[in-house]
Amino acid sequence: MMYPPPESQSLKTLLPETPILLMGSGPVPVPQEVAMASSIVISHLGETMKKIVARVQLMAQYVFQTKTTKIFGISGPSSAGMEMAVGSLLWPGRKILVLNLGTFSARFAEMARGVGAEVKEILPQGLAPIYLEQVREALEKDSFDVLTIVQGETSCGVKNIHLKEIVELAKSHGILTIVDAVCTLSTMPLPMDEWGIDIVFVGGQKGLSAVPGISLIAISENTFQFISNRTQAMPHWCLDPRRAFKFWGLGEYHYTAPVTGILALHEGLRLICEEGLEARFERHLKCSSALQNSLEAMGFSLFTPAEFRLNSVVAINNLSNVNTKELISLLIKECHVEISGAFGLDIIRVGQMGEQSRFENIERVIRALAFGYGQFGHNLDLESGLKVLNVSRDSGKK
Ligand SMILES: *Cc1c(COP(=O)(O)O)cnc(C)c1O
Repeated sequence: MMYPPPESQSLKTLLPETPILLMGSGPVPVPQEVAMASSIVISHLGETMKKIVARVQLMAQYVFQTKTTKIFGISGPSSAGMEMAVGSLLWPGRKILVLNLGTFSARFAEMARGVGAEVKEILPQGLAPIYLEQVREALEKDSFDVLTIVQGETSCGVKNIHLKEIVELAKSHGILTIVDAVCTLSTMPLPMDEWGIDIVFVGGQKGLSAVPGISLIAISENTFQFISNRTQAMPHWCLDPRRAFKFWGLGEYHYTAPVTGILALHEGLRLICEEGLEARFERHLKCSSALQNSLEAMGFSLFTPAEFRLNSVVAINNLSNVNTKELISLLIKECHVEISGAFGLDIIRVGQMGEQSRFENIERVIRALAFGYGQFGHNLDLESGLKVLNVSRDSGKK
């Protein structure tokens, strides 16, 4: 007797009839070119793949603003990139200083403990970034091998405004730095070489507007050399940069590469190169500012003070007597727009990463918010919000 198969149900019956506009903290909508690319399967080895990989690395060098040739794609989420970085630089006896602003930057500490490193954390004073002075104090008291910092902490919408100075300080102490640029790369400046960062990683599904489940890591040449020289066994086999180099450097087999993800990344990166980083940063700044201003005009208040507010994910204070889970379901059902809640904070979050930063998408989100909160009895001033949005949309146009 064999177990019978389940009743057949096509994907079409499971997917919503009207596509949902993804305006939360990721994944984000993808351009047509990315969608097309991610439906193609070719061999993971051979001449075609070699050419594509070379192009991905060349374009990634531009996006990371680095000359390093040690750029690897990873078959896994951004957290796999984090895990490759942490596992490569840390082992029992090594010390790491984690600048912990919330969920994502705290993950470094969890992973570092997992590989047996000694972990020290700096926490912010209230809702704030980590300031240079706090790091200076910690480095005066103690010595460390590695320092980790997130450029933008997606969970609470805070930007680490002293990132450049902190990396510089760490470097002057001979400490290696790892930067989580998952929600920020290509949405705001992060010149890896100029700022002297040792490792930067990013996922496909946020600023790059490619697909989830694939990530990119850039390791400086010196740091890769350091990793190559380590004598301790690597904790991970898939996430070993030396083995990754076999595929990404030599075109040889490591594991079967995430073919569709690499093709999707190729298109995501190509569109970034064609737009140009300066223009892309400006689009993100303009769109995110317009979103923030129109939310305030509608009567919302923003969670994060302007001086360290993250533009790529905007945190908004929830209004009284609104259950954010119910609100989010309502927006999906009635407006076909998805936003995010938060882990433990009474806020909602709207993303401004990649394709999210388009005026037509912002308009849909603020209309949806006015409708949704209206259902909970809050009368938001949509008209003023739209007016502010349109002024910004038209500014700079001839
Ligand atoms: C989303 C996010 C992550 C985690 O990304 P996954 O792809 O889910 O692993 C890490 N760091 C930051 C800053 C993020 O925004």
